[in-house]
Parts: sequence; structure tokens; C-alpha cells
Amino acid sequence: MDRPKPYRRFRKLLIANRGEIAVRVIRTARAMGLSSVAVYSEADAGALHVEMADEAVLLGAPRARDSYLNIERVIEAARKTGAQAIHPGYGFLSESAEFAQACFDANIVFVGPTPAMIRAMGSKAGSKLLMEQAGVPLVPGYHGDAQDEAVLAREAAKIGFPVLIKASAGGGGRGMRIVRAASELSAAITSAKREANAAFGNDHVLIEKYVDNPRHIEVQVIGDSHGNLLSLFERECTLQRRHQKVIEEAPSPTLDASRREAVCAAARKAAGAVDYVGAGTIEFASDGKEVFFIEMNTRLQVEHPVTELITGIDLVEWQLRVAFGEALPLKQDQVKIDGHAIEARVYAENPAKNFMPSVGKIRTWHAPNETEGLRIDAGYRGGDAVSPYYDAMLAKVIAWAPTRDAAIARLNRGLTETDVRGIVTNIPFLSALVTHPAVAANVIDTGFIERELKALTPAPAAAGELELGAAVAAILGEEAKAAGAQGGSPWQSFGWMPVGQRQRVFAFRQGQGAEQKVILSYGKGPATLAIGDRVLPFAWSMTADGTCDLTLDGVKSRIFAVIEGHELYLRTSNGRFELHWVDPFGGDDEELVGEDKIAAPLPGTVVAILAEEGAKLDKGAAILTLEVMKMEQTLRAPFAGVLKAIKCKVGDIVQEGVELAEVEPTGA
Ligand code: ADP
Repeated sequence: MDRPKPYRRFRKLLIANRGEIAVRVIRTARAMGLSSVAVYSEADAGALHVEMADEAVLLGAPRARDSYLNIERVIEAARKTGAQAIHPGYGFLSESAEFAQACFDANIVFVGPTPAMIRAMGSKAGSKLLMEQAGVPLVPGYHGDAQDEAVLAREAAKIGFPVLIKASAGGGGRGMRIVRAASELSAAITSAKREANAAFGNDHVLIEKYVDNPRHIEVQVIGDSHGNLLSLFERECTLQRRHQKVIEEAPSPTLDASRREAVCAAARKAAGAVDYVGAGTIEFASDGKEVFFIEMNTRLQVEHPVTELITGIDLVEWQLRVAFGEALPLKQDQVKIDGHAIEARVYAENPAKNFMPSVGKIRTWHAPNETEGLRIDAGYRGGDAVSPYYDAMLAKVIAWAPTRDAAIARLNRGLTETDVRGIVTNIPFLSALVTHPAVAANVIDTGFIERELKALTPAPAAAGELELGAAVAAILGEEAKAAGAQGGSPWQSFGWMPVGQRQRVFAFRQGQGAEQKVILSYGKGPATLAIGDRVLPFAWSMTADGTCDLTLDGVKSRIFAVIEGHELYLRTSNGRFELHWVDPFGGDDEELVGEDKIAAPLPGTVVAILAEEGAKLDKGAAILTLEVMKMEQTLRAPFAGVLKAIKCKVGDIVQEGVELAEVEPTGA
């Protein structure tokens, strides 16, 4: 029988991953005319990557080891669908020599290096030995076999404190300990070994000099099966938290042209030492001047898009072409840097609560359009659930511009215009980070985030006139939408009561703050809002994309709002705000729960019907508006359900307690 060829042309690709990277790989596969197969767990049945692929195979239960990490099931999924190749993305199986071997044995192309290359580079200790022999600069350290404490203590003393203990099999910053004095060494070794054993089933550690004011600089490389190997410049990923990257950029603002050439040459030497085939990254720690090899990752990295944006190369396309057995299309001197790119990782986590992961349903996902210089790689959309089973990264916002300053400004705008509701994200933290003056000036090191945490997690700003006006506009907009009107003013467009000056009082509370009243007056002449002792001309209109234009005191501005029952999320030019809409009639959610009959809280006149019989209503959806003593009160669905009946019409004068509508809860 012919031995299978590791690299050859294929037409159907299985993507053994989930989230944004699966989506991103599928996109390029499709552009190249390949058909794609997604795999998924029970937790991901409705996920974006499943929807995007041509075919999809359920692997098993949500836990990664029952699904995404289960080699047998992944190979079986490829066999079943006739996929001839597997792209592992990053994480999960991407650096598993066992998986690469299993693909080879099943005559499936593994889009990546050979098992031998993965093994050679998979151990931090082993790869450092290899790099030492190849003449790649290393951090001074000990990466030998002996592991007894006496040897480790002697070596640490020789290196000089502070030192870094690392799990040889490590990844994701696990099993790493900074040790500042000999007296702390023994305890640090014990705990690093314990963590390494639990995480990787291997407690071998190595010791490195802890580089002062460390920066992280890495070089993208790619090799083909014809002996060509290119470096595609460097990325700087110094903004980290707990040794995990948060912001990445390319090129590094720290290197000048000669240092850039030196680090790229070192990376080519490193990858050349194993005749590397595929995309990979050589990582270096740097003191801002010299660079020292720390490890190689034999896969695509999360942060690869910044390299793509400055080189114009689609790295996934190149990975696939290498897997086809093609030669790389460019020579080293044809690869050029154009401009600057910077990426931010959007996580479902709460920076104010020690970055606790946030799980739940994404109720709103609103990202800006991918215009010139802005790219958004997302693995989720509105309605998706963020489960506790996987990495909490939701998306990456990536910006390109001719200069670093402009790229940062563009990134910040992309972050500012991304609205996520339902779960907590680190987006405001990312904005604070990329606009920090130390980041602009590039006077940072890998400990920067930890030190500046307070400044990076600011308390929300106080809502002012603009936000209160926005809140009123958002409520009116929602009522207009509910009534089926296309924009305009509800008080003109649907059968409102005879003209005359009318008022409507709104009250809002921000957090634990005091109630703030806003009085809307309309009817005769232009509408106004009274806020405190100021009376401001007011107008609003809906835009097609779900945003709202507000004109307050002669200034027109765009706002984005989400109304969830009595909770308002508003984004104005001042930032993001959350307000509670205080119901003047005490119709708090608690009191309404279980009440399927919507009754008049006080005697009044029905002035607008805002929903149709039979309509499906979200909790808090507007049903009708009652006017009580020239003040309007919108009655809302107390729970999600169907509007079973409307028992009144516009113009009806109703007594307190009279039933006006009936809602049937969903699922009843
Ligand atoms: P992991 O594989 O767990 O991610 P790495 O070896 O890549 O571990 O290191 C993670 C991060 O720790 C690096 O990005 C770098 O910022 C920092 N780091 C690693 N080695 C050193 C060192 N010797 N001195 C200072 N910082 C280091």
C-alpha cells in the first residue's frame, strides 16, 4: 500500500475547533472553494461556526474531553463526511503530536507541522536545548533533566534572582512562578510542580532568569514542504494579564529596523532548526533591547490577524496552500510591512470583579461595520449562549492604519461602538487600556495591567442631560416601534388625543443614586425636556440601523439604546450608561410577575395601543399607553408571552382596576 502523503491537494476541510477561529478558518476555506465541515459539542448546537459550515458533526457532550478534545471522534467525523484534511485552529488539538499522528494514520492531511516537529518544539526544555545548539539567543537559565531541589536551588543561585520557574510542558501561563529570593524558591517549585502536574500530567520544570521590565515579542514564521521558510515580521504582545495576552500589535513599536531584522533572523534560525513546515510563532522575552527565545508555538496564534493586516497575507490561505503541498508564493524580500495593526481580545469576563468569567445568553450583540481598517473576528452573535465549558474569548477587534496612533484610535472606536448585553465583557477595560497614555507612549511591560488595574477599571460616569434625554428618546422610540410606526413622533403619528399641551414625567435612577426626573412637554410648539431647572428643546428620530438620533438643546447626536423591561442601556458620545427607569405607578417587575391581566392602575384615558392581539411579547414590551391627569403611563408585559386580548380602544376612559389587556405567558 502507498504510504499516505502528509501534504496534498484536498477539497473538503474539517475544522476541529469552535468560536471565532473556526468561523475565521471556514471563511477562508470558502473563499478558496473548499467545502467545510464543522464539529461541535451539545453546548454549541446553535453556534455560529456550525451555521456557517457546509456540514456539521456532533461530537458529544459539552465537556471538551468528550467533544473537541476527543481525537477518535474528530477523526471519525472526518471519515464520515469524507473530509480529506483537518485544520485544528489554535488550542484544543492544535499542538497535539498524537492528533497530528492520528490524522496521518487515517490518511487525512493535518494542516500544520508533522508530529515530529510538534514534539521537538512541544517541550520548553527540549526546544531550548535545540535552540541552544542552533545558536538562537536564550534567556539564561537551566533546562536540564535533573529535578531534585538541591540542583534547582544551585542553578537558580547561579542564574541570579529574580528567576522564573516554568512547567516544561506549560501553556497558558500555567505552572509559572516568579521567585524573587532564594528563601521563596522551595515553596514556588512545589506549587509550580503541583500545578503543572494537574494541568499537563507532567511536573518537569525549568528555571529562567526573569527578564527585567519584560516585553513579549514574537515572530510569525511559515515554512513549506519544499524547504522555503519565511519570517513575516514580529508582533508585540506586552499587554498581558497573568501571562495571557490582551492586546497585540504589529510591528513592534519597540524595535528599530536593525533589531527587527535581528529578531526575524533569530526566528528563522529557530524554525529552520526543525525544518519547520506550516505556520508557527517563535516567542521571545525582551528587556526592550535584546530578545531571548522562550518557546515556539507550532500553530496559528490568536493574534495572527495583526500580521495579516500589515503584510496583506491571509495566513490561513497560506497554511492551506502549504498543506496542499504548494511552495510559498513569495520570497523573503517580497514580504513588506504596510502600516500598523492592533488587536484587542473581547472576553466574557468582569474586570471589576477580578475578571470573573461571565456566562449566559448574549441578548444584544451590536458590532460596528467592518469598514476600512476595522476587522471583527467574532465567534458569537446575539442570542448565543456563552457556556462555562470553553474559553471566554468572544471576539477580536482588529484595526489597521498607516500609523500606530491612528490604528489605536481606530481600535478604540471599534471597541466603543461594540455593545454587548446579557453578559459582562471586558470592552470598557480594553478601551481604557488602549487609550492609556503609557500605551500610546509604549512605556509598558508585561506587569503594566496588574499595576494599573484601578485606572483601567473606572467607575461608570454619572448620567447627565444628554443621557437622560437619550433615555427618553429610547423609550419613545421603542413605543413607536411597538406601534409599528416608522420613526417620527408617537405623539403625532398614531391617533393621540386632542391637541393641547401635554406632559409626561419620566424618572430614572443610576445605580444606587438619587432619582432624576425628566419632564417631556409636547403638543403645542416644539417639544422640550425639563431636567432640573433647565428646559431644553428636544427632538428625536429613529434610524434604520436600530440607533436613534437625538437633538437636545440644539445639538444632534447619535445614540444606541437597549431597553430590557425597566433597565436601559444607553451609549452616547459620553460612553455607556445603565439606567433604571422608575415606574411612577410603582409597576415594578416583582409586583407584575404572575399577573396576566393588564389593568388600569388609576382612572385614565387610553391614548395609544402599542401592540397587536396575537403578538409575541418580550418581558417589558409596551402594550398600551394610558393618560392619567395629563401624564402618560405605558403598560408593559409583565413576562414574555403572547398578547391574548386587548380589551380597550384608543379614546376609552377607564376606571381604576379595569382590565385592559391579557397576556398569556410563553410555555403556559
Ligand atoms: P506559556 O506557554 O504558559 O504561555 P511562556 O513561556 O510563553 O508561557 O510565557 C508566557 C509569558 O511570560 C510571556 O509572554 C512573557 O511575557 C512572560 N515570560 C516568559 N518568560 C519570561 C522570562 N524569562 N522573563 C520575563 N518574562 C517572561
